[in-house]
Formats: sequence, structure tokens, C-alpha cells
Amino acid sequence: MHQDLEQLKQRLPLLDYLRRSNWTARRVGTAAEFVGLCPLHRETQPSFYVNAHKNLFYCHGCGRGGDLIRLVELSHGLSFRQSLAYLQQQIPAPGRGPLLEETAAFYQLQLHRHPEAIHYLQQRGLRDPAILEELGLGYAPGGNLRRHLAGQGYPLDLLLETGLINPQGRDTFCRRVIFPCRQHGHIVNLYGRSIGAAFPHRLLPRSKGGLFAWESVRRFHPVILVEGLFDLAVLWQAGFRNTTCALGTHLTPEQFQQLTDRPDRSIYIVFDRDENHAGQQASQQLAQQLAGVGVGAHLVPLPPGHDPNSYFLAGATAADFTRCLQQAHPL
Ligand SMILES: [Zn+2]
Repeated sequence: MHQDLEQLKQRLPLLDYLRRSNWTARRVGTAAEFVGLCPLHRETQPSFYVNAHKNLFYCHGCGRGGDLIRLVELSHGLSFRQSLAYLQQQIPAPGRGPLLEETAAFYQLQLHRHPEAIHYLQQRGLRDPAILEELGLGYAPGGNLRRHLAGQGYPLDLLLETGLINPQGRDTFCRRVIFPCRQHGHIVNLYGRSIGAAFPHRLLPRSKGGLFAWESVRRFHPVILVEGLFDLAVLWQAGFRNTTCALGTHLTPEQFQQLTDRPDRSIYIVFDRDENHAGQQASQQLAQQLAGVGVGAHLVPLPPGHDPNSYFLAGATAADFTRCLQQAHPL
């Protein structure tokens, strides 16, 4: 019983529980201590303290304190046993991360079983098997993921919640090349590029995460930033391993923070040269924002109508691309 209790408290830390219940707090000093409004009594000045290390709370307003179980007893008017049962249900479903790892591994196996996928990659100029392997590229043929994951014991609820299975009960990714997006070693999302007539881009309904492969790219100087994962893949293939990708032209605050992590960073932006100038406008804007925080940004001119992927497909070499980098104008 005691062991179960400790395990429960470890798997569902007090601070996580409170945050999931929409409790907002600010950190006190540098310690693992947080303060916010008390969920147990009405107040306008925060006096409810949580120590994340000790996993305990104390309210200076109403004088009550204790651990997670105590908080549930007090806030829900439940007995000790009832509180335990309630909390058991609140523990996050086992391994969202592992589910995406399992899914990506499954799709990776499918890639070599479906010639149409390999054919598509070749058409996009991706031929180096080492790059495909390193990117963890896979293929979702559609119609077989749900059965596979159910066989591995993943509950349908979880698959629906993650968005891997749509409300009609079918695989969300169908006839798509899959790029796993990793952060700190975990897969945080999957990007699927349609190889057919369906809408080209698809992500799971969750954050796109940080910059693609940032953990390996951040050590380079300078860094090349592109829009799409096929741009990144062909540039890696051509030897430009200092390329990262924001999955679009709009950076999330997290991605922007990553790009500006050091003051001496310099960034080469290579967005699409599309006819409606959306890519050029986006790169101008981004370069200005970067310059605003003191980070050097260069706009790389590709021939009109090209993105890095199409440029290499049209026969450009690494030397051609290097010349484009040299012609880049700093902002
Ligand atoms: Zn209180």
C-alpha cells in the first residue's frame, strides 16, 4: 500500500496535477517553489505554495497543507481511499512518446515494402539510403496501422486522442511519406507528405515541436533554415548538414528562441521563391525579427520559382548552392 502510494505520487507529481487543473503559479526565487491562488479557499493574493522537490503544498491563507492525496481529499471532499481511486484514473495513459516511436518504426518498415513510396522519394531527388535511415523516414500506406497498434496493446482511446486514428476509425496517415520530428531524443510529432492527390502536408494535432534536428544542427556555424523537410533532406544529402527546418515559414516562439540561442549565430534563410512572393515576404519579416535581437540573418536568393528541393532536382550541385549562399545579402 505504502509503495503504491509513493509510485502514484511519482507518476503524477503534485505540480503537474495542479497545472492540469489549470492552476497558474509563478516560481519563487530559484528554488523548486511555486506560489499561486489557493484552490481550497477564496483569495485575491496568492498564498498557496508548492514545493516541487518535496511534492508538498502549504497555504498561508487557510493554513492547510500536505501531499497530492491530501489536496484531493480537501478539494473534492473525498475519503483517503476515494482520493486514491480518483487519482489512479488521472495518471497519464502509458507512454505517448513510446506510441509515436512504435508508429514511426512501423512506418519505417513499410517504406521498403512499398515501391510507390521509394519511387516518390526518388522523384523528389532523395536517393541516399543512409540519409533516409538517419531521418527515420517511413511510409504510411493507410489501412494497417490501427490493427498493428491494437495488436501491441495500445487502447483505441489513446490512438484517437493522439490523432493517429481518425474519428471514423481509420488511419489518419494514408499514402504519405512520414518524417518523425524529434526533440531531446523523443518523437514529438509526425509529418506526413502525401504522395497522391490528397492535401500535401499533414501533422498530428499537437505542437510541431522545435526546429527539426536542432540538437545536431545547433553546433554548426552558420545555420541554414528552410521551409520544408524535403528541402532539408536534399541539402543534407548534398552535404549541408547545418540545415534545419521550421516546418513552414512561421516560427513558433520556441523555434525562434532556439535560433537566437547565441548572439554570434548567423542564419541563412532559404524559403521558397514562389510567384505570390509569400516566401520572400516571410523571409524578410523573419530576418528583421532576427536582426531585432541582434542575430545576423542573410536572405539566400535561389532562381525564381525554386525551393532548395526543386533547385537540386533541376540539376544544381553543391557548388551551385554554395554560390547562392555566397550571394546572400545580409540584412
Ligand atoms: Zn488556502
